[in-house]
Amino acid sequence: MIIQKAEFITSLDAYRELTDPPLPEIAAAGRSNVGKSTMLNKLANRHNLARVSGTPGKTRLLNVYRLNDAIHWIDLPGYGFAQASKTEQARWSQRTDSYFSATRSLRLVMHLVDSRHEPTRDDLTMNAFLRKTGLPFVTVATKSDKFSRAQQTKQLHMLARELQVQPWDIILFSGVDGTGIDAVRATVGKATEPAAD
Ligand code: GDP
Repeated sequence: MIIQKAEFITSLDAYRELTDPPLPEIAAAGRSNVGKSTMLNKLANRHNLARVSGTPGKTRLLNVYRLNDAIHWIDLPGYGFAQASKTEQARWSQRTDSYFSATRSLRLVMHLVDSRHEPTRDDLTMNAFLRKTGLPFVTVATKSDKFSRAQQTKQLHMLARELQVQPWDIILFSGVDGTGIDAVRATVGKATEPAAD
């Protein structure tokens, strides 16, 4: 799916029904700084639709975008920022839980993990949550440009083992060199096509 139109709609501190007409939803989850904003910008072919930040923990709200007048893209608050207080972490849980328990239109969760590192405890918690609830999800391993091909394969297998998914079910992605963008587009298109209703 080629995204021709992308608009920011709103930031929410807790999920509630959107005033926008309902559309199929894609939610993006991942730890703070994993590259969620970069992936959305790449997908939408825009430089600054979502704010890319060098400082982890900036995107603490649910940010809602509309793509092609056909999809709601729900950017969930990034988790696992080291300096967050207990209160902030509790707020993060509330926001995420309020989303997952309220949404009726969720078609796919894109779970982003950093391909450079072993999954964090929070990554594993999110992965376990997705598998337990049976929500449709795909794992996207970001920042693949940091590795050679051979190293990428090694990292992919490590992530697959740790996250208990098949290596071919993980999309290797780079917002820098565009690796995996076609797979992301195809996955988003397939998950939101009208026939899936
Ligand atoms: P978010 O907090 O998950 O939205 O992460 P951002 O998209 O804001 O990215 C956080 C940092 O990682 C920024 O400095 C980005 O430039 C960098 N980054 C994001 N994606 C990639 C990537 O694919 N490759 C590389 N090398 N850096 C990336």
